[in-house]
Order: sequence, then C-alpha cells, then structure tokens
Amino acid sequence: MDELIQRRFNNMFNSAVEGLWMMTPDGQVSFYNQRFYEQFDIDCQTTLDNWIQLIHPEDRKPFSSNVTTHVQAVGDNSRVITQYRVKKKDGNYIWIEGTGINQVDDSGEYMVGNHKDVTEQKKLEESIWQLAYFDKLTGLPNKDKLTLDLSKRTSSVTMVTIHFSGIKSYVSQYSEFILTDFIASLLECFHLFSRYECQCYRSSLDTFSVLIAEELSDEELGKLSNEFIHLFKTTTRNNVSYFGDAYIGIYVCRNCSLSSQEIINSSYQTCEYAVEKSKLNWVIYNDQVKPEVDKYFYVENHIKHAIENNEISIHLQPIVDAKSGQLKSFEALARWETEQFGFIPPDEFIPVAEALGLISLLGKKVFSKSAEFIVQYNQTWNCNLKVHVNISALQLLKETFPDKLLAITREKNAKPENLVLELTESVLIDNNQQVLEGLNELNTMGFPLAMDDFGSGYSSITSIFKLPFKLLKVDRELANQSLIESEAFEYLQFLSTLCENKKMEMTIEGIETQEMVEAFVRLNVCSYQGYLIAKPMPVDQAMMTDRLNNPIFN
Ligand code: C2E
Ligand code: MG
Ligand code: MG
Repeated sequence: MDELIQRRFNNMFNSAVEGLWMMTPDGQVSFYNQRFYEQFDIDCQTTLDNWIQLIHPEDRKPFSSNVTTHVQAVGDNSRVITQYRVKKKDGNYIWIEGTGINQVDDSGEYMVGNHKDVTEQKKLEESIWQLAYFDKLTGLPNKDKLTLDLSKRTSSVTMVTIHFSGIKSYVSQYSEFILTDFIASLLECFHLFSRYECQCYRSSLDTFSVLIAEELSDEELGKLSNEFIHLFKTTTRNNVSYFGDAYIGIYVCRNCSLSSQEIINSSYQTCEYAVEKSKLNWVIYNDQVKPEVDKYFYVENHIKHAIENNEISIHLQPIVDAKSGQLKSFEALARWETEQFGFIPPDEFIPVAEALGLISLLGKKVFSKSAEFIVQYNQTWNCNLKVHVNISALQLLKETFPDKLLAITREKNAKPENLVLELTESVLIDNNQQVLEGLNELNTMGFPLAMDDFGSGYSSITSIFKLPFKLLKVDRELANQSLIESEAFEYLQFLSTLCENKKMEMTIEGIETQEMVEAFVRLNVCSYQGYLIAKPMPVDQAMMTDRLNNPIFN
C-alpha cells in the first residue's frame, strides 16, 4: 500500500475511541491503534500473553478459555464477546468489552476485533445490582439475593432465619441512628456462623437469614442457636437497653427440587412459630416439629374461612351448685373440628383470631349460639339457667360491643341476666378507659360479669372488687396448688371470705377428683366446674342433660 495512504489509515484508526486490533493464531498482535492502548503498559510489539498479564486475575481464566475456544473454531466467523478488567498504567482497572471475529484469506487465518471501555456501564450495572440485591444500611445481601442464591444451590443447605423482636419500637424510641450501633453489634453475633461456609442476609427491618452451604445435625443446630441467643443477650449496646429478643427458625433442605420460595417459607414460618410458641426461642423444622408448625399455619390461613362459614361450633360444660350438686349453668366453649388436623383447641385458634382482628366476629357467633342454646334449654326443661360466654378483652375495645350483644340477646329472645360474660385478667391491664366503660355498660344492661381464670395472673385483688364483677372463677392451677400447699389453700380461704363480703359468687374450675370437692367443703364455694362433673359436650347432648340429676353429688 502507498505509504501516504497507510499513514492516513493509521491516523484514522488512531482517532477511533475504541481499540482495534488484528492477531495471528500464534497470539502475535500484528496491528493495533496505539492511541487507545497508550493507557496500558504495553510495548508496540505486543502479544496475547502480554495482554493477558494485564487482565484482572479473577477474569483471566474465563477470558483465556473463551479466546482459545474461539481460535480453534476456524471457519466460524461468529463474534466472541468477553467482558473483563484490564490494568492501566496508573494501577487502576477499567472494564473492557472485547469482540473478536475469525477471518481466513489467501494469507491464512487471523482474528480481528475491537476493545471498548465499558467501565461506566459496568458501574451503572453494579449500582443497579447493589440497589436490587443489597441492604443499604448493613451492606448485606437482601431477600431477593437470598432467593437467587437458593435457586443456584446444587446440594443440601441449612437456612437459619433470625427475627429480632422490638426493633421497631426501639428505633422509634431512640431514633433511626441507634440502628447503626445495633446492627454493628448484631453483625458481631453473626460471626458465630463463620465456622461454616455461609452467607448472611438482611431480609427485612428485623429479620436476618444465614444460608449455610451444608446440612447440619439437629444437635449442632441446637447448640449453635443457644450460643447465638446467649451472645445476643450478653452483647452490650452503648448503654442503651434493648428489651427485644432473638428468635430462630431453622430449615435443613435436602431436596434439590424445592423452589427458593418454598425453602424461605419453611424457614420463615418456623421462625414465626418460634416467636409465638417456643420457650427456647429456637425451633428446627424437623419431623417432630413439622406437624405442629404446619398446624399453626393451617390455623392462621384457615381461621377466617372457618369463622365466616360457621365451622366453629360450641360445646357446653355444666357448672353445678357446690352444695346441692344441681346444674346451675353451662359454659360455652368454642370448638373447631378440621378434616386435616382433627380437633384444634381454642387456646390455639383464639389468640390467632385475636391477632388477625377476627375475634369480634368469632365472639358474636359464639355468643349468638350460646343465647340460642340457653333459650331452648330453659324452654325444654322449663327452668331459668344461665350460659357463660368467654369474651376477649379485645372485643371490649370496640365502643359498639355492648349494644351489639344486647341486640343479639333480643334477637334470640334471651335475657341478659342469663348470659354471663367471662373475662380474664387481661381486661384490667393498662386500666383502659374504653374497656372499663364497656364493663360498666354491660353490667348496667344486666349481663352478669365473671372474672375467669383468677389466680393464674398477677392482677391485684382490689382492682377486681372495684369493678362490677358478680362472679369469681378460680383457676384450675390455683385450685390444684391449694391441695398441696397450705399457703395456696389459705389464699383461697381469704378469697372466699372476700367474695362473701362483696356478695360475689365463687366458682372453682378444674374439679377433677372427689378429693378436691371434699377439700373445698370448708370454703364458701358456690359452684364447681370440671371433668369430675362433666366434660364439655356438644349442644345436642347438653340439651338432654337433666338439671336435677347429677350422679356425682347424689
Ligand atoms: P376457660 O374459659 O377457663 O375454660 C375452661 C377450660 O378448662 C376449657 O378448656 C375446659 O375444657 C377446661 N376444663 C374444664 N374442666 C376441666 C378439668 O377438670 N380439667 C382440665 N384439665 N381442664 C378442664 P378449653 O375448652 O380448651 O378452652 C380453653 C380456653 O379458651 C378457655 O378457658 C377460654 O379462655 C378460651 N375460650 C374458649 N372458648 C372461647 C370463646 O368462645 N371466646 C374466647 N374469647 N375464648 C374462648
Ligand atoms: Mg371461661
Ligand atoms: Mg377459666
């Protein structure tokens, strides 16, 4: 080629913002536009090997194998595109996107291509990646990254979910910046997991996960959980007291076909179960625990449907006069019979109904069924017995609650005096004005109020006597305790005297033996309730119970 034209061609190539090159199959670079390559430490007679020396060690291997494969594919003139980092003269790396195409002509094989600086594009991708997959505050990967990482697993993994209770109120009490210190102390605790190949994630404000790349035994996980909880409790936090707790839910996944979401759900639900149910603060989703956790979530997912579709029925337990043994009243107890889990006790679904805001609806239905029952019972036997209905403190928080009860009572042709409302000590917590007003209103309407499970909590006796309660139901635990501990018995004696003076009836719950009845003869007890007399029974059976005929007391 004419020398002038060659110089002009060179000038033209040098003005390009990209790098242009030509290479023979033995790796000799026979041409490149110098201007672009001046930023790198290479001489003018460079080779592929020199170039590879400038590539970031992490990117070298994929780059080399890409180029080798392509060079070997003679005759294939498709493009090979590789992105990698290359070191500049100043020691910094820039991202390069290299494109190579195989060529063949009379002179033989060779490869041509270009190099493009894609650093800005990479930075943008990186910041989008950071935003999408990392938590800003801790720098830890987030739940989406956890989902992604789980989807790439090739063997068994152990997923540990840790929930820290009370963080929300801790932050609102001390402002957001306290969180930085708190998180720093948390991250120290997470070092405990560094003995395994693992990654820690922040899934939400107060929930973290640790993904361990192996299957750990229940024994080891138990030890690890105890150690973590101990470390968390003993870690100091700049003298600012934190009253929350750490709860751990663990799922060991051995099944490679499970989706990320299924694994996350199992671990999360186990953690939630630990928050609600575990005394140890940690639970492993193993064969023993699985049915319990599954049942817990069955309740959470199905209770609404069950209430709305009248799947919750009532059973009735007789309450008898302590002296004559005659039937005085029944206590209505909510019952839920399921196909999948059989009978689910109220202690397991009432708190869930409360937490989900469904207790008012459930309460109304139970109350309505109870009113219907007692009207029919009294008509059948031509008598005037009462039915006791349990009321949650949360129901009283609704201003309209007393009016609603009265409306149902009238609709069922019942009388308020026959509908005893049983409340637990939780109604006294915080001296809530709305609750106290509700109690007075119900009393004025004529509903007798009973204090249920007395002795199981810590409320002061005086506050109870200031409220319009007509009945005191002594808790089963206290009744049992009084048989073995003289102090407990004296306390019962004191309570019965107090009730007598204040014209309140005293009922003892959980009467299971004749021995109990005999022990309580000395007290001024009005009525008894318990398995010795009768267990809670379905409506039909209760309807047939003769109020005068009680074998225990005959
Ligand atoms: P509770 O109101 O104190 O009801 C008495 C509980 O003791 C019932 O349990 C009853 O079956 C049980 N029981 C009765 N006699 C004996 C006995 O001799 N020995 C033993 N071991 N237990 C006895 P249940 O039906 O499981 O109800 C548990 C709790 O669930 C109730 O305690 C009550 O607080 C709550 N509950 C039940 N139904 C309702 C409802 O409709 N609404 C609300 N808010 N709570 C309810
Ligand atoms: Mg009760
Ligand atoms: Mg009770």
